[in-house]
Amino acid sequence: MFGAILQFPAANGEVRDYAAFAAKAKENGVLVTAVADLLSLALFKSPAEWGADIAVGTTQRLGCPMGFGGPSAGYMATRDAYKRNMPGRIIGVSVDRLGNKALRMSLQMREQHIKRERATSNICTAQALMASMVGFYCIYNGKEGLQRAAMVAHSAAITVKEALEAMGYKVRTQALFDTLEVEAEASVIQDIALAREVNMYYPTDDSVRMSFDEVTTDEELQTIVEIFAEARGKKAKAVKRVEAAAIAAEVKRESDFFTESIFNSYRTETEMMRYIKRLELRDISLMNSMISLGSCTMKLNAAQLMQPLSLSGFQNVHPLAPADQTEGYRELITNLERYLATITGFAGCTLQPNSGAAGEYAGLMMIRAYHQSRGQGYRNIILIPSSAHGTNPASAAMAGMKIVTVACDQNGNIDVEDLKKKAEENASELCGLMVTYPSTHGVFESRIRDIVDAVHDAGGQVYMDGANMNAQVGLTNPGYIGADVCHLNLHKTFAMPHGGGGPGVGPVCVAEHLVKFLPTHSLMETGGEEGITAVASSPWGSAMLLPITYGYIRMLGFEGLRRSTEMAIVNANYMSSALKDEYKTFYSGETGRVGHEMILDLTRFKHDYNIDCGDIAHRLMDYGFHAPTLSFPVHETLMVEPTESESKAEMDRFIESLIQIKRECEAAAASGNADNVVVNAPHTAKELAGEWSHPYSREEAAFPLAWVGEGKFFPFVTKIDNGYGDRNLVCRCMDWQ
Ligand SMILES: *Cc1c(COP(=O)(O)O)cnc(C)c1O
Repeated sequence: MFGAILQFPAANGEVRDYAAFAAKAKENGVLVTAVADLLSLALFKSPAEWGADIAVGTTQRLGCPMGFGGPSAGYMATRDAYKRNMPGRIIGVSVDRLGNKALRMSLQMREQHIKRERATSNICTAQALMASMVGFYCIYNGKEGLQRAAMVAHSAAITVKEALEAMGYKVRTQALFDTLEVEAEASVIQDIALAREVNMYYPTDDSVRMSFDEVTTDEELQTIVEIFAEARGKKAKAVKRVEAAAIAAEVKRESDFFTESIFNSYRTETEMMRYIKRLELRDISLMNSMISLGSCTMKLNAAQLMQPLSLSGFQNVHPLAPADQTEGYRELITNLERYLATITGFAGCTLQPNSGAAGEYAGLMMIRAYHQSRGQGYRNIILIPSSAHGTNPASAAMAGMKIVTVACDQNGNIDVEDLKKKAEENASELCGLMVTYPSTHGVFESRIRDIVDAVHDAGGQVYMDGANMNAQVGLTNPGYIGADVCHLNLHKTFAMPHGGGGPGVGPVCVAEHLVKFLPTHSLMETGGEEGITAVASSPWGSAMLLPITYGYIRMLGFEGLRRSTEMAIVNANYMSSALKDEYKTFYSGETGRVGHEMILDLTRFKHDYNIDCGDIAHRLMDYGFHAPTLSFPVHETLMVEPTESESKAEMDRFIESLIQIKRECEAAAASGNADNVVVNAPHTAKELAGEWSHPYSREEAAFPLAWVGEGKFFPFVTKIDNGYGDRNLVCRCMDWQ
């Protein structure tokens, strides 16, 4: 035995003292994970205090709406000893070129794009925006606010418990926080409750569970008590909220938390608003200028599409709400599944996965279920081209598959001979191929059908990574090229914002023969009869986000969608041609054209100017631009994707900036001075206002072109020391603002 997992409070709401269990586990070398409700920890001992090693759970109840299932951020915390084994991204602290403290993503060396199948996680898009919202909730409320909210929820539960016991009900939960389980005729209670639009949970025929929170009103408590009274033909007394009883000493939290100044500084709405605005001003976003991150498709997120997010009808719906209370959501979901299936040329769609990578995992599990259904569950080898996004091998490894890498030729295409050879060699165990189309090199592979056929001939299935669908919608599709499965990134192609790293949605669309393997969920009428296990705990994943994509598709219509794709391709080709004398496009297929993005070749910059592509990316900030995608999938390159949303004027500013930066590189090389305007970039306002000893002027540093002036974005820190941040991993709140 190596691990134990405990829920706090337990599923029926019982608050248990796990200290003795945890001590025994430790004696035997067993690590303990607690699934802990964060709000409860404002009143009860933390998992670390009673001896757990790891705590996980959802942060949803700290200020995020239910949204019929999401988005919401999960959390995971560990003892110091395990912090370097944590999956995913950790924001840590480092220093910049001038010694200022700077926040940055730590331990990047173990991410998928570097470690591939040995990465600590396949997750790329996470729930960054939701995590920020929860952070703000904690900052605004502080320890006192959280304790108050927890106490209100606790007293509501105690009030109902006492009222039900007074009526003769047996409450199974004894020591409780906010949840209780009562012995009662579930079907009788359910009928009365539904008539009064109250949702409860019915774990068995003779029990009912309910939870309360800090916004449960006295009227709602009264309604609950009336439902139980009516079920026994009684009349309910007027309910009066009781003071919560004292919490038992063994489980009561005595330790302090949120002592850092950040949790004690912003206690008026005005202060909070200004704090959030101040942070926003440190970020360069699509509100400032084009973000040409290739492969990420940073297109317009129209304001109109975002409005449904603020509507209570979309926000305040429980993930397990019954069908007759969610007809609107269900109609929207059914239509959206149909639209996405049509766009991809497939027969079925699931909206469950919360990101592209989660979609990859779900899609691979469906492929495996398909092989198993044919008595070929031993098919376990997956072919992945060397140019693939790192999530592909990381997801395949998570799905328990063996990865065989396929080479690419010097034009950026899959080496078809190598692919055929590897498919044939592994035919007896071939599970399938993961292929990105247009490829991550930005070109429509002209032999894609040969590639698909070769895999099918060897008994494999073809998984198309749909991150580049912005080059396909309305023009071609994965069904047409003969693929079997694909994921979409609604936060790329279908106009959802990226949220600084999530939330996203990664639907998976499948061909007819795979429809019956779509993920199931106890609440879904649809989903395959042999469906794989759910990949999210809510039936339609982050349902609240779906109106954005639904609106995007409905407002553009088929013609509009196709026109968007055409403009995305035209824009990329315009930029590629405009730059061709100064920055060669690495791959441009046989036609000399690119798809919707291009890879600019900077491989000679180090040799010619002693400047690398990271320096160019930083210098772009001084011109007011976010960097394009850096060194992916080829080292020392920039991958530029303008999308259909950018105007010619904005693309021209970007082109002019890149050309001007090349002039700066040439001048720097000619002077031989390592103290130059490119390697020192970006320049902060503070540095510009201070003493100046560089051989170039402040104007050259900050206002290199005539139009870089009004509304200029000044980065808050300059180039960050990455090595320092990885060696000195600090991933906790500190008082250093
Ligand atoms: C973005 C991307 C992914 C991963 O998608 P997430 O939604 O970030 O998980 C996979 N493959 C490619 C080619 C991508 O660009």
